[in-house]
Amino acid sequence: MGWNSFWIDSGKAALSAVFPENIYCICCGDVTDPESKSGLCARCAEKLPWAFENPFRSYMDEFAFDDVWPCVRYGSYARKIMNGLKNGGQSYMAENVGQMLAERVQLEWEMPDLFAAVPSHRSKLQKRGYNQAELLAEAAAKRLKLPYQKGLLEKVRATGSMRMADGQTRRSMLEDSFAVSSQYRSILQGKTVCLVDDVATTGSTADACARVLKAAGAAKVVLLVFGASSGYKKVEENGAPEA
Ligand SMILES: [Zn+2]
Repeated sequence: MGWNSFWIDSGKAALSAVFPENIYCICCGDVTDPESKSGLCARCAEKLPWAFENPFRSYMDEFAFDDVWPCVRYGSYARKIMNGLKNGGQSYMAENVGQMLAERVQLEWEMPDLFAAVPSHRSKLQKRGYNQAELLAEAAAKRLKLPYQKGLLEKVRATGSMRMADGQTRRSMLEDSFAVSSQYRSILQGKTVCLVDDVATTGSTADACARVLKAAGAAKVVLLVFGASSGYKKVEENGAPEA
């Protein structure tokens, strides 16, 4: 660590001792109202492209999940928030995003029976220290007072970069990548599972998870994400960001 980053880190530590972390907007970083449960300042809350409709609704027959519940359209704002959550080590942001996910679930008529997260492979987990999808699933479930089953899904095989892969290739890359942990199979029978991820672009990762959940007895799988791209066919044509 150089002297420069030492002072920046020390400065940050001193600041966070005086000010709690939640006084900064999770999107633009400006000082905001600490009472804001979403962690967003008024300006960002207004600018975010809120989009509650299932963006995959015209291609749902291609997926194993039954519905998609997004909060915003995936774009520069959502990317900024997700980058902070994923790469900035700002796991506290999961509480704010979890709040927005919980509010999204409350727009639905039917509540899921339990929450599960799209898992990371061990190698990725070691690098980052946490799986953002797990933090989000846990935070959202806690707010809704619904059960969250940690470790329900496991990523048993690393998939590598799927950035340039088309839908068919992604599907075959993801085959046998996920498994339901044998100790939790019994709790899935006939249940509606709320599968949580940070973003959905092509839906192929969530689809692979939904397949194993259903094979293990889940009756229904709904995908809850913060950001979703406006349409997977479009993403497929233009190349997708890493899901
Ligand atoms: Zn802001």
